[in-house]
Amino acid sequence: MPAATGDVFAGLEPAPLWRYFKDLTQIPRPSKHEERVLQYLKDFASSRQLSWQQDAVGNLVIRRPGSGGGEAALPVVIQGHIDMVCEKEPSLNHDFLTMPLSLERRGDWIKARGTTLGADNGIGVAAALALLSCPPSATLPPLECLFTVDEETGLTGAFQLSPELLTGRTMLNLDTEDWGEVFVGCTGGGDMNLLMDVALEPLPQRGEQPGQGPMVAHMLHLGGLRGGHSGLNIAEGRGNALQLMARALAAAAAAAGPDGWRLGGAGGGDKRNAIARDAWALLLVAEDKQPAVVAAVQAVLDDLRAEYGSVEPGLTLRLEPHPEPVSEVVAPADSARLLALLRGLPHGPLRFSQDVAGLVETSSNVASLKEAESPSPAPGRRRYSVVTTTRSLLDPALEATRDVIQGLAQLAGCEVIRGRAYPGWRPNLESSVLKLTLEEYREVLGGRDAKVGAIHAGLECGIIGTKFPGMDMVSIGLSTSTHIRMT
Ligand SMILES: [Zn+2]
Repeated sequence: MPAATGDVFAGLEPAPLWRYFKDLTQIPRPSKHEERVLQYLKDFASSRQLSWQQDAVGNLVIRRPGSGGGEAALPVVIQGHIDMVCEKEPSLNHDFLTMPLSLERRGDWIKARGTTLGADNGIGVAAALALLSCPPSATLPPLECLFTVDEETGLTGAFQLSPELLTGRTMLNLDTEDWGEVFVGCTGGGDMNLLMDVALEPLPQRGEQPGQGPMVAHMLHLGGLRGGHSGLNIAEGRGNALQLMARALAAAAAAAGPDGWRLGGAGGGDKRNAIARDAWALLLVAEDKQPAVVAAVQAVLDDLRAEYGSVEPGLTLRLEPHPEPVSEVVAPADSARLLALLRGLPHGPLRFSQDVAGLVETSSNVASLKEAESPSPAPGRRRYSVVTTTRSLLDPALEATRDVIQGLAQLAGCEVIRGRAYPGWRPNLESSVLKLTLEEYREVLGGRDAKVGAIHAGLECGIIGTKFPGMDMVSIGLSTSTHIRMT
């Protein structure tokens, strides 16, 4: 299918910016498949007698000498990522590995038909190319335009960036989303995998416990939550399905008494960077305790509706009969450890920034509870994996929070696998490039001030700042709302 790019850019200024952006929409560039766009960039440089250099992971720098009086100025780094998020309408036949995007203009908007547009970060890359192609008379400092690979699926280009690529210590990252916003900070992060082995035992049979009827299986399900990104949405007070399910389970357990219930299994949550939306527990309840358990679950639901109200309008908590037979259950002491861990782990914003009003400085997310597939547990045992994701603008605060999680998990008898952390970018409101950016913005915004902010998620700046100590950075741009951050 030929791409109908036709005249969608007709009349748009600055013309070079839109010409390069159009080129980029015609070159397939999913994350980890950037070879064609890299070749395009190398050809761009060679045809203009600009030097380029590439590192082992694929990141490319194109250098332009200073001109028009800027020859002796300090070099400025202009940075954007060349991969794009590839999502499409389910019914559309589009292969992102081979096909160009089909564009259309609707009013003031350029859109892609049925797919993501790749304005994140294509517009930043196009801006860098427009600068590199300025005429020799333009007043510009020496430029080091850095094009990174594979931002969207793990920031691996930035992580493996060779220190030899850059000499500049002033950087404009062009991967921010909205006009009129300047970002000066981002969080670092680190995951934890908390492995808990639990003992399994046969389900108690009728008559084994005096005065008790048989145990009847039920599924307890907490769902309908909004979920969302574990960084960007962490301060909105949304419910965490795992923790709320554990709370309901604890209430049911209290109502049933120690011999009146058993845990058959539990799980919930999915992606490490998402707030858990759904969770379940297989609950076995002694027949005579069922009315008390049903009442306790209903009371928790009433409490949660009162607490979460308009934040979680879709919240559901159901206790339903489970028809399949259950033979093995978790040993009671181990059920108690698992519930205590889920309820005790920190979740949500833990501290706010002193520098940027309303910005979360440190947060943590209880992301998922799953059965661990490997290493396989001993016979008669089951291994649960609880994944947490912690973020902070401040690396020491990140690690201190991870220490808390580790300590708690060890108290609960877990083996702790502490994932490698990536660094944050602490806001520096005294930054020279920030002052200059704000002055320039005031001019183009007709005297209005740009908004200075920071993001509670990962940006390449955090990693690049650690590799090049003293790098003075701002992040600006127009990457639109299609940005899906994977970290
Ligand atoms: Zn981006």
